[in-house]
Amino acid sequence: MAIYSYLLVWGGVLLGMQIGYFEPNTPHWWLFGGTLGLNLLVFFLIRRGYSVRWRDPSLTVPQMIIGILLITLLLHYSREMRGAMLSIYFMVMTFGVFALPRRRMMMMALFVLASFITLEIVEYLDAPQSRIVSLSVGHLSILTMGLAWFVYVGGHIHNLQQRNRDQRTSLQAQQRHLEQINHQLQDAMTRLEEVAIRDSLTGLFNRRHFMERIEEEMARAERQGNPLHLALIDLDHFKKINDTWGHQAGDQVLVRFAETARSALRRSDLIARYGGEEFVILLTAGDTADIRQVLERLRSMLSSLHFGGKQGFSVTLSAGLASWRPGDTVDSLFRRADVALYRAKETGRNRLVEAEA
Ligand code: GH3
Ligand code: MG
Ligand code: MG
Repeated sequence: MAIYSYLLVWGGVLLGMQIGYFEPNTPHWWLFGGTLGLNLLVFFLIRRGYSVRWRDPSLTVPQMIIGILLITLLLHYSREMRGAMLSIYFMVMTFGVFALPRRRMMMMALFVLASFITLEIVEYLDAPQSRIVSLSVGHLSILTMGLAWFVYVGGHIHNLQQRNRDQRTSLQAQQRHLEQINHQLQDAMTRLEEVAIRDSLTGLFNRRHFMERIEEEMARAERQGNPLHLALIDLDHFKKINDTWGHQAGDQVLVRFAETARSALRRSDLIARYGGEEFVILLTAGDTADIRQVLERLRSMLSSLHFGGKQGFSVTLSAGLASWRPGDTVDSLFRRADVALYRAKETGRNRLVEAEA
């Protein structure tokens, strides 16, 4: 924008010289060469990022000062064109409107006035008889009124721009805030979903989740004929443990059992706390022999655990195992596993019993 403006002024000067209303020996090459050089320096400073840290990164004030000084020098050579050339000052002031607050615009206006008055005084002192004082006063008056208008309107535009910027900033802040809340909500949702499917004491899945999963797995078994086994586990004489060692010790047993089961079972095995001291396991990998081995391992791991200090106690489990067969419903599978568990209890506990085929 600055370079375009300078070229325009240059054209005006050349035209003025052509038609004889500008000093024919105006050193226009020097003036424009110098201005262009200074502008390239400004361009370099901005482009290289040096000015980013400065208070006025677009270097508006230095650029305006360069422009004002150039115009003042041109006015010196302007003769009859002076009145028309005064308007070029306003072109420079326009640049300030986009970047400067009202106080700075006022300073620039005062700088224009000071430059112009200095020029008039220097010229008057140089050749008093050739000056028309009333014309100078007229020029000065028009210039002052125009500058005042620029300061007023410029300040207004600057305020509008500032308000726009503030609104944008606050919108961006609001958007960031919303994104943050969204994140927190998603985290909370994930945590809630996790809590909703877990038993709070043992951390194992709860009964509701297990029932959903077993429905899915049974539908899959129905479609693909995959093996599927259900084990019901009940800790032995748990009431006695509670009565002898206290409810808290009982809780500890449940927690330890859950840990043990997690380490004894395979990734594909799904275990849940069915209620109280009863657990269910859904096993979808391996044949019956593998599964018997897994459950036997869990049984022996639990029975070798030691609870409650020196003269503590140990805990055993009874388990009933049923294998899925075509036509089974969740109910019928559970019923068979339950019968097997009952038999395990009846025949002495601490054992695994398979439902009859
Ligand atoms: P059995 O060998 O026949 O299974 O005997 P049992 O004593 O384990 O049988 P029963 O099912 O009658 O007793 C289960 C006990 O488990 C009764 C109840 O107080 C206790 N219990 C249920 N839930 C919890 C719990 O969350 N914490 C504790 N500490 N005890 C529980
Ligand atoms: Mg029980
Ligand atoms: Mg029991």
